[in-house]
Amino acid sequence: MTQRSRRVASLRTVALLALCLSAASAFAQPAPFDYRLSFPSPEHRWMHVEARFTGLPDGTAEIRMSRTSPGRYALHEFAKNVFEVTITDGAGRVLAPTRPNLHQWNVTGHGGTVVISYKVFGDRTDGTYLSVDAAHAHMNMPATVMFVRGQMARPARVTLVQPPGRTWKVATQLFPTSDPLVFTAPNIHYLMDSPIEFSNFTLRTFTVDDGVNGPQTIRVALHHDGTDAEADALARDVEKTVREASKIFGELPKFDGGVYTFLADYLPWADGDGMEHRNSTVVSRRGALRNPDQRQGILGTISHEFFHAWNMERLRARAIEPFDFEEADVSEELWFGEGFTNYFDGLILERAGLMPMTALLNDFAGVINTVTLSPGRQIRSAVEMSRLAPFVDAAASIDRTAWPNLFISYYTYGSAIAMGLDLSLRDRSDGKLTIEAYMRALWRRFGRSGNTTPGMVPTTYTIPELESTLGEVTGDPKFAQEFFQRFVQGRELVDYARLFARAGMVVRKRAAGKSWLGDAQLQVGAGGARVATLVPFESPLYKAGVAQDDYLVSLGGTTLTQPSQIDEVLGRHKPGEAMPITFVRRGGEKVDGTITLEEDPRIEIVTVESAGGTLSAEQKRFREAWLNAQ
Ligand SMILES: [Zn+2]
Repeated sequence: MTQRSRRVASLRTVALLALCLSAASAFAQPAPFDYRLSFPSPEHRWMHVEARFTGLPDGTAEIRMSRTSPGRYALHEFAKNVFEVTITDGAGRVLAPTRPNLHQWNVTGHGGTVVISYKVFGDRTDGTYLSVDAAHAHMNMPATVMFVRGQMARPARVTLVQPPGRTWKVATQLFPTSDPLVFTAPNIHYLMDSPIEFSNFTLRTFTVDDGVNGPQTIRVALHHDGTDAEADALARDVEKTVREASKIFGELPKFDGGVYTFLADYLPWADGDGMEHRNSTVVSRRGALRNPDQRQGILGTISHEFFHAWNMERLRARAIEPFDFEEADVSEELWFGEGFTNYFDGLILERAGLMPMTALLNDFAGVINTVTLSPGRQIRSAVEMSRLAPFVDAAASIDRTAWPNLFISYYTYGSAIAMGLDLSLRDRSDGKLTIEAYMRALWRRFGRSGNTTPGMVPTTYTIPELESTLGEVTGDPKFAQEFFQRFVQGRELVDYARLFARAGMVVRKRAAGKSWLGDAQLQVGAGGARVATLVPFESPLYKAGVAQDDYLVSLGGTTLTQPSQIDEVLGRHKPGEAMPITFVRRGGEKVDGTITLEEDPRIEIVTVESAGGTLSAEQKRFREAWLNAQ
């Protein structure tokens, strides 16, 4: 209750400020909060922050370290890395804070100015945390800078100080000034959304004119240990991806300052991540561009994050706007924000010629297998899965959970819904109406508003509004209502086999007639087969009473000592057959039981041509309109 009212209040403040700024003659612009970021010994993985907050109202200044980061949904408790905090007033007089909680420093008697100085440790290179070392400072702002409660509408100025003996460059979506080490943000929300890469990165740029917003610049700031030729090749693929993505919406977002920046870190000590921001993204990965196995993953993340510049950064759910830096941000719409983005990231790469159609079909089959077979769908819908993000999105607790049985990622679930919607629309309109028309309608109704005020999205959506827009696009509100009721709020799945057939594709069992125990990992060694993962609800192993950490001693009369034996036994017995199983439960109880085999239920998707059939002219048209470059 309190949370909600505070959000509304801060939104009003910002709206009011925007009004003030546009009437600049009537009101003086407030002085920016000044942040000075320095790196006296980066090799020791900490940096120094000095923040000067001026023009504060009388009373207690509540200075906070964030608990969350935009684009992430769990709590990350960034205050844990902060140390040696000192606080003074504007005249340098030391002020003693009180600490109402672990994240907050309360300061009174400040006379309107608080200068807070601290060190912060950071050693994780990704889109969420802070990384300082001899090679770079890679800063996600919520992990780096403090803010003042109730002062989120204030502008900010950020000054970077070179580490001793180095001349690093800066890549960021913060607004540049005439000084290459000084940047500004129109408000604290924008500052928090603006990661900084400070290093000797390689820079590639290209221009895209979408015919609507005029020419805009795309920058690829690449921190890696590879060659310039590899950087050139990556930039070429990024450009293809950006151009193909812009065709989905028919225009690019209007980037603030006309610039969008990829902050890419492919380093042996980086961690895999992709984090969307308004005019930039952080994409990171352990490894290198030279490794061909990494290529598809690297481009998949790039395609995904760039799509977020529309879907998430501007086309944005009401529940996460403005973003809450104090509590976990709960959104029932992540199946759309993340899941629809997931559907498009592969489709865009395939259309751009950067991913073979067979690889895309494999991804689609994986998505269908997950939503069809995961026990979680018997329990929760895509909307309910989205609500769980604070528990599963890089959240860390150390107890075992039953997530494999209770949860389906909203990325996967939402991707299945998007695929189902796209194919359903194409199917019922004979290709005249597609998911692109829906995305464009949402963009016009909600997304474009996000072009206007850096750091804010004025017009946000709710699930009923997603539904009503689908009703308008199709001219069939009943279809929209039924689709949302059954597949979004409900737990049904579209008939994928029938819909894929329209494109001349066959959805078939990938191991027809083959016996199967259930998707649990079995580690076979001298002592038997250890069940290394959670046993899926209602699988043959589950029904036989087998659980994680049990040891399978024998199956169908064969004593298990080698991995190949399981396939041999399954090959000798048909689905439906019951056979003896002996296993030892954790704790030592030996069980002589029976297991009834089932047919491997997993599917694959292949073209009708490769399955020995003939592609009809109508199927060919359907397929090309869907999968060819637009
Ligand atoms: Zn995403």
